[in-house]
Amino acid sequence: MRIDLHAHSTASDGTSTPAELVAEAAGAGLDVVALTDHDTTGGWPAAIAARPAGLTLVPGAELSCRWHGGPWPIALHMLAYLFDPSEPALATELARVRLARETRAERMVELMHADGIDVTWAEVLQDAAGGTVGRPHLAQALIRRGLVGTVSEAFEPQWLGRRYRVPKEDMEVFTALRLVLGAGGVPVFAHPRASVRGPIVPDVLIVEMAAAGLFGLEADHTDHSPAEQADVRALAARLGLVVTGSSDYHGTNKTVRLGARTTAPEVLERITAAGRGSSVVG
Ligand code: AMP
Ligand code: FE
Ligand code: FE
Ligand code: ZN
Repeated sequence: MRIDLHAHSTASDGTSTPAELVAEAAGAGLDVVALTDHDTTGGWPAAIAARPAGLTLVPGAELSCRWHGGPWPIALHMLAYLFDPSEPALATELARVRLARETRAERMVELMHADGIDVTWAEVLQDAAGGTVGRPHLAQALIRRGLVGTVSEAFEPQWLGRRYRVPKEDMEVFTALRLVLGAGGVPVFAHPRASVRGPIVPDVLIVEMAAAGLFGLEADHTDHSPAEQADVRALAARLGLVVTGSSDYHGTNKTVRLGARTTAPEVLERITAAGRGSSVVG
């Protein structure tokens, strides 16, 4: 069994449509793929409709969260599986975050205008095509202008990495946990030790999250060094959390391929048994 529990489509900042994503997952030899777009379930219906026979689809999302308990706020991502997408409290909060992302991206466009960069808000919105807007959409606009060559170059400090970056209005992390659990979902902390992405949260927060119902930690991820991976596994064992592995596929916006990292079948069984808001498909 090959199980990849973290992948993005054009419903957020991936480049494959949900239908293309499930086809690619089957083509890559995966038995199970989870669709986990940033702050949206908008890709679920198309992915379910296009699911090839023999592929199991786990509906999910990756929630943009923030922890305010330290000296400064730290951003973190929470994967959520098998929640009820129509549960009002969670759906409302997701809609708020998506709208705030649009306001934020528009402000980033304005910051670029102030520097004479003629990226337009209209083209960014068009590229996002109704999905969750993120910095990768701004990166594509910079590429079209020939200002950068690749998405990763667009994330360097002189571009979207710092100069034109505006913080997101994320979900408070314990609010997100409560909402996911309230919607019958299974929360897993995405790439918790990915220090290449920026400041990481301390162990004490993960201990508190476990006490508040966190189910697992994503250990195998391209943004984790081998030492960070081992660290996550040890922490999960200590706290009684499951560990997952996944590609965090973003199509051509990133170099990682579907199925590059995988999750053990017994872990998927535990996640499936815990999810009460929606069901795996297939
Ligand atoms: P945002 O959520 O709008 O702040 O944008 C963050 C997203 O940009 C992440 O989910 C990744 O998909 C992508 N990203 C972040 N850093 C990089 C990078 N160095 N190279 C390519 N994509 C990146
Ligand atoms: Fe992303
Ligand atoms: Fe993430
Ligand atoms: Zn992701």
